[in-house]
Amino acid sequence: MLHQALIVVEIQQADPDPDGWIQVQATGRACIVCPCGLNTGFIDKAEAAQQHRDHLENRFIRHYPENAQAQAVVNEMIDTLAGEG
Ligand SMILES: [Zn+2]
Repeated sequence: MLHQALIVVEIQQADPDPDGWIQVQATGRACIVCPCGLNTGFIDKAEAAQQHRDHLENRFIRHYPENAQAQAVVNEMIDTLAGEG
């Protein structure tokens, strides 16, 4: 199984600055996604950080091999998606 857990920080639009430029601010939530199917949705940042740690630690506890075939599948999909821009 391929694990590359990513943290996605949620932001939202805030009041514009004095020059009128749009500003953003963090909502305090984040989402963890991984090619293995993990997708927490946006949850509190502390919980997200914990799940990210737990997920990567579990990977080693279970002794999943680094899987070149799985990486190739992901890379092929990324190439396909990039070509559809
Ligand atoms: Zn995973």
